[in-house]
Amino acid sequence: MSVSPDVIVVGAGIVGCALAAFLAEDGASVRLLERDGIAAGASGRNSGIVQHPMESALVPLFEETVALYRELEGFALPAEPNGVLVLSEAPDALDAELAALQAAFPELRAERLAPGRPAELEPLLAPGLAGLRLQTGYAVPPAAATGAFAARARAAGAELRLGAPARLDALGPCGAVVVAAGPWTPELVDPSGAWRPIAPLWGVNLELALPAPPRHALEEAGIEALVANGGEALPIFSLVTAAGISSLGSTFLPERPDPAALAPALVARGARYVPALAGAAVRSARVCARPLSDDGRPLLGRAPGRADVFVAAGHGPWGISLGPASARRVADLVLGREADLPDTFDPGRFGRVTSPKASARNEQLAWQAKPLSG
Ligand SMILES: Cc1cc2nc3c(=O)[nH]c(=O)nc-3n(C[C@H](O)[C@H](O)[C@H](O)COP(=O)(O)OP(=O)(O)OC[C@H]3O[C@@H](n4cnc5c(N)ncnc54)[C@H](O)[C@@H]3O)c2cc1C
Repeated sequence: MSVSPDVIVVGAGIVGCALAAFLAEDGASVRLLERDGIAAGASGRNSGIVQHPMESALVPLFEETVALYRELEGFALPAEPNGVLVLSEAPDALDAELAALQAAFPELRAERLAPGRPAELEPLLAPGLAGLRLQTGYAVPPAAATGAFAARARAAGAELRLGAPARLDALGPCGAVVVAAGPWTPELVDPSGAWRPIAPLWGVNLELALPAPPRHALEEAGIEALVANGGEALPIFSLVTAAGISSLGSTFLPERPDPAALAPALVARGARYVPALAGAAVRSARVCARPLSDDGRPLLGRAPGRADVFVAAGHGPWGISLGPASARRVADLVLGREADLPDTFDPGRFGRVTSPKASARNEQLAWQAKPLSG
């Protein structure tokens, strides 16, 4: 490892670890800086489902990520999707979602489940629920893919510095920087506070072991609409089981919540769908932040106004499902193999500011990028 690496990657989540692996395997000298530990953020605390993202622009990233997982050593993607059951206490509430899914994503083979049918498929479910069944969703232990990419990065010669908080103006010389710091990416790229196209959307998950847990991933209807609307005060039910451990979720909150305080509400919500949750022993409660961009799509490419700073962040609720393919594309850009990525993912698409509050601030602050090194 040279004193001045070719590339510094900031953040050891799924995106940063995959980036470090791809760059190092392609011959770059790579230093990854992580203020905490590997998968310390959402990449180690998510619900653990590799799932179709329900947005056309993101589907290629999902398909490519599944292919990357198939060849990832030390990580076992199930051979077939577990399937997702979208559940509702009111059958009519699913009509619009079913029609939209069938029209946009026939590959999901969305089918209606009449009241009672979900409980026949998954005996732990409450008897009267209606649902939709989707052919997607691979259940995996939440931190497994990130850990496997970190190991792959090390094996390829990348230097992983943990407990190493980064600031772009204090990195020292290097060829390029990729900021893959999840929801904290904008504050690293633009400490002035003017550019904030990604915000945290905080989620709590409870970890528990259920006897004979469901095979399908389970979720309450309406989660996608809720994320698109920026969150909701009440917990929304989801349950994913991988390697015998179930993750019960979740919340969608703009401020960091206290996970222990929210645990009773999560259990109460979940017990409406899976009554056995009322008596289940909770092993732990974990909190993490979805890096949610203003249009729900990741920011992949050069930071606005910066030639040698790249951004790979903003995957919201889909980072485990899309992050490795995003990392592959940004690695190709950094290595000069891709001239540019699609405008859909351009980090500059929001301009320099996104919110009226930030906009007002920006009129006084002319954000000027500093040179990377020096
Ligand atoms: C409750 C919940 C459930 C989820 N479930 C799923 C799911 O089932 N499937 C799915 O696909 N996605 C899921 N997601 C979303 C997914 O977890 C995220 O999109 C993804 O983990 C983001 O990865 P990342 O690498 O961009 O960021 P992160 O995982 O947040 O990693 C960023 C890293 O950067 C580090 N960092 C920050 N600032 C600095 C600094 N200054 N210097 C050094 N390091 C720094 C942080 O410590 C962190 O380790 C879920 C998210 C939540 C919150």
